Amino acid sequence: MIAQVVVDLPTGLVNKSFDYKVPEHLESSVLPGMRVIVPFGPRKLQGFVTGFSSSSEHNKLKPIEDVLDPVPVLTDELLKLGQWLSEETLSFYITVFQAMLPAAMKASYSKSFVLTGEPPDDFPLSPLFSGRDEVSLEEVMREFPESLALFQQQARAGVLDVIYKVKDQAVKKKKKFVRLSLTAAEAEAMALKLPERSVKQKEVLLSLCTLPEQELQTLLNSTGSSAQSVASLEKKGAVCIDTREVYRDPFAGRTEKKTQPLELTELQEKAIQPLLHAMEKNEHETVLLHGVTGSGKTEIYLQSIDKALNSGKESIVLVPEIALTPQMVTRFKGRFGSKVAVLHSGLSKGEKYDEWRKILRKEVSVVVGARSAVFAPFQNLGLIIIDEEHETSYKQDDNPRYHARDVAIWRGNHHSCPVVLGSATPSLESYARAQKGVYTLSSLTKRVMMQELPPVEVADMREELHEGNRSMFSRLLMEEMQIRLQNNEQIVLFLNRRGYSSFVLCRDCGYAVTCPHCDISLTYHKKGHQLKCHYCGHEEMMPETCPSCTGQHIRFFGTGTQKVEEELARLLPEARVIRMDVDTTSRKGSHEKLLTAFGKGEADILLGTQMIAKGLDFPKVTLVGVLAADSMLHLPDFRAAEKTFQLLTQVAGRAGRDELPGKVVIQSYDCGHYSIEFASRHDFLSFYNREMHTRRSMQYPPYYFLSLITVSHPDLVKTIEVSEKAAEYLKTKLNSSSIILGPVASPIARLKDRYRYQVMVKYKNEPGLRLYIREILNHFQREITQTQLQIAVDMNVQSIM
Ligand code: ADP
Ligand code: ZN
Repeated sequence: MIAQVVVDLPTGLVNKSFDYKVPEHLESSVLPGMRVIVPFGPRKLQGFVTGFSSSSEHNKLKPIEDVLDPVPVLTDELLKLGQWLSEETLSFYITVFQAMLPAAMKASYSKSFVLTGEPPDDFPLSPLFSGRDEVSLEEVMREFPESLALFQQQARAGVLDVIYKVKDQAVKKKKKFVRLSLTAAEAEAMALKLPERSVKQKEVLLSLCTLPEQELQTLLNSTGSSAQSVASLEKKGAVCIDTREVYRDPFAGRTEKKTQPLELTELQEKAIQPLLHAMEKNEHETVLLHGVTGSGKTEIYLQSIDKALNSGKESIVLVPEIALTPQMVTRFKGRFGSKVAVLHSGLSKGEKYDEWRKILRKEVSVVVGARSAVFAPFQNLGLIIIDEEHETSYKQDDNPRYHARDVAIWRGNHHSCPVVLGSATPSLESYARAQKGVYTLSSLTKRVMMQELPPVEVADMREELHEGNRSMFSRLLMEEMQIRLQNNEQIVLFLNRRGYSSFVLCRDCGYAVTCPHCDISLTYHKKGHQLKCHYCGHEEMMPETCPSCTGQHIRFFGTGTQKVEEELARLLPEARVIRMDVDTTSRKGSHEKLLTAFGKGEADILLGTQMIAKGLDFPKVTLVGVLAADSMLHLPDFRAAEKTFQLLTQVAGRAGRDELPGKVVIQSYDCGHYSIEFASRHDFLSFYNREMHTRRSMQYPPYYFLSLITVSHPDLVKTIEVSEKAAEYLKTKLNSSSIILGPVASPIARLKDRYRYQVMVKYKNEPGLRLYIREILNHFQREITQTQLQIAVDMNVQSIM
């Protein structure tokens, strides 16, 4: 029996499976989709079994050393999907397989130096080994890096051996449980007979009489006894202790109030039909659910999932990481209780692993999660939902560069089940497909209770400045805020930036402080008076004088949430403000705490960044203010207008969701821009038509496909040379109607001390493009493996920034 194994070595040279012998004792336990440990050269690597055969073209195969999983962790479907995704995204199989599984299942490797026998008398490393025969490479690097050469020399001389180890990080959590082995009456009798000094044992026994099985630690805490008392009872045969695996429960102690399906409105009833039809007929269909904010899309999701559950099928719900708020989770847990697993980045590695295993073991039938939850190992899928389908976070910007929407549709096809894409502001791609009939369009044009969408007023900040208002609040917004404060209503203020301010600039010479490793401005952080690079983490002190002209007038520019907070304290001292940004929400649970406090009315103003734009539903919010609506418009990104429109629409949707009517004030320096104008009129269709026109004339998606090759290397000349060769090669291969742009420096021209150049390909139909890019990658394979050269390929670019 021979197994094909994809090994954990992400390089082009080994992007295939290798043959291994299955030793007899493993023959009955190894199946495709299981993780194994195999020898590879001098090392040991983790790998995935992808199939079996009875013969191999190689003789002298090495045997599989160990099988890590009792059941396959990649189902047959996921193995197939992995193959497809690897070809689509030009990523390695191993990278794709790993992306499908929780991070805890990735192996960690270590290397050690081991004495081969009795070391010679003059062995120079004796003090470092002192009484042991193994030292890990990690320890060498940490404690005595200067001796590394000596270790290697001794290894070559044969005094030391180098051994490689593979450790599975997927650790199951275990707990001890105590169970009474006697009847309650026997235990009570025994307790009474125990001598005076065994008072703790007595308490333990009596406690077990009322609850015969308890978790050890809980029992010890409640009785104030020690493990020893319980051990004595075990010896006497009164109790037994066993160790069991338990799930880490990120939602421990929380039970959501059970909710019942709401009676659908007429509009909802109509909008859910295409979905229910597809489910009844077991047909794959992609439904674009275009519903304004507050139109009841989530209730449609919930009732469709219910339908899937009733026919014994499973559902996947994807929500953008940023919208995966406790409010959202509560709605799903409230309806489906323990049938729901939740996967998001706030969980620890172990917690994610446990939630994922509930799916594998069929203990849940619904998963709510961020992007990677699209790989949930369900085997009987009835429905996949992507909420806020336009969100850019559904595209992974690292290998494998996949879009969750494409994966969802592949799986929908495989399982013959519908995929729902929901949004108030669909991506241009999806809406265009719906118009062409590739997707089924289903619209919800009104809010559930027919509440009006809030009126939006635009405040022209240039005008304000002209008339002498130098504050960051327009007079209009200020007045509206004062009214809300008087009426005891709530306000949401949205700012599309983080930190205290964005960048530091010298007013005399115009010098902007940039990162020494990246071509990016450093960001000022008030805490510690420091400048930070948000790309590589570089930190330095805020300079006193300009490093370029030594002038005194070096200042930070732009407005951040901290600065707005200070300004609010000055102008509206009576207002209670909750600030939500990366700085105030970095600790686990703080996000939820702040939102709960706001929901309970403990503050008048919720001030925040992107993270407050979505999914929040607070009935007392009657005013939404957007401070710098155009801050995104000037990014060199063909989606800048689309993203601005989407964000403004989302934020505006937070106002007037209940009985109190809401209002929105958008402040901008570029009021005439169509994305702001259409957003202020809640007019998606006009925005869509206008933006499609721009995309067509600029030859951007969805009219053209956009692929991007980014070459990077510490040496600028090398970077340019390789990117030029790549562009040249593509020019000889592609249709004359395709457009090859570049090579040019990337928008971030240097990152972590590497220069970056890019070649962009715009095309309508290039069936051979993947093959040609593969050839380029193969051509540079040796340099990529052996030197610092990197070539990143994104076959379907979402954002050029
Ligand atoms: P969306 O997801 O489209 O923004 P939601 O699903 O959050 O909209 O619905 C907005 C509000 O309307 C929520 O408070 C929800 O509970 C309520 N709602 C939704 N459907 C109904 C219904 N059929 N009857 C009564 N209330 C509803
Ligand atoms: Zn940097």
